[in-house]
Amino acid sequence: MTTSTTSPKSATRRSRASSEPKSGPRSKPMKAADVRPFIEALAAANPDAESELTYTDAFTLLVAVVLSAQATDASVNRSTPALFAAAPDPAAMAALGTDGIAPYIRTIGLWQSKARHVAALAARLVEAHGGQVPSDRAALEALPGVGRKTANVVLNIAFGEATMAVDTHIFRLGNRTGLAIGRTPRAVEDKLVRRIPPAMLRPAHHWLILHGRYVCRARTPECWRCAGAQWCTYPAKTEPKRSRAA
Ligand code: SF4
Repeated sequence: MTTSTTSPKSATRRSRASSEPKSGPRSKPMKAADVRPFIEALAAANPDAESELTYTDAFTLLVAVVLSAQATDASVNRSTPALFAAAPDPAAMAALGTDGIAPYIRTIGLWQSKARHVAALAARLVEAHGGQVPSDRAALEALPGVGRKTANVVLNIAFGEATMAVDTHIFRLGNRTGLAIGRTPRAVEDKLVRRIPPAMLRPAHHWLILHGRYVCRARTPECWRCAGAQWCTYPAKTEPKRSRAA
């Protein structure tokens, strides 16, 4: 899954530190004409980019995304098969309740509050939405444990909307590459939505997250093997480390 795993606030704090060189010039805005080729290069590097979370429908996607806040997709995927087998739909999840959900997710960070949120959101889906995940942003964001970023992921993946969920990777990437420089996740989101060609916006969510996760890493970007390096404005591009024998 290519969903976000970090809250916007912590993304702001961490990415501000990791997206910029410790000294020297900062990234300039990427030229408008360079946005399309940059995104196309990331797409070509990950043509089949998709979610790395395990889910089967909109409900299990929503739960998995809520569980993935400040946790890795891999840690969520280790827990959710048993949880979803026990509670595959909102009614069953609501019946399981906080105490019933907790044992399944104890290895995921913040599991206590997440158990409460998942139980409450499942109950809300049953009470207010006929057991269905709503496709409306306001209704999604009104669910316990669901903020703008989670709503954007669900709208993008489950309902096909061209949304941009800004997690820690996308926040860092936007600032570091010059693609979308902004001080808050919302500012970066708005710039990405404005700058990325509309037809590319929905899959761009996946391309950017995978690029940030595996190439343009938080601590040290691997610029020497980056498909988008020629358009990226990061002023401190890295080179491969030389071996001792070299
Ligand atoms: S060139 Fe480096 S900083 Fe720029 S996108 Fe690629 S990995 Fe990230």
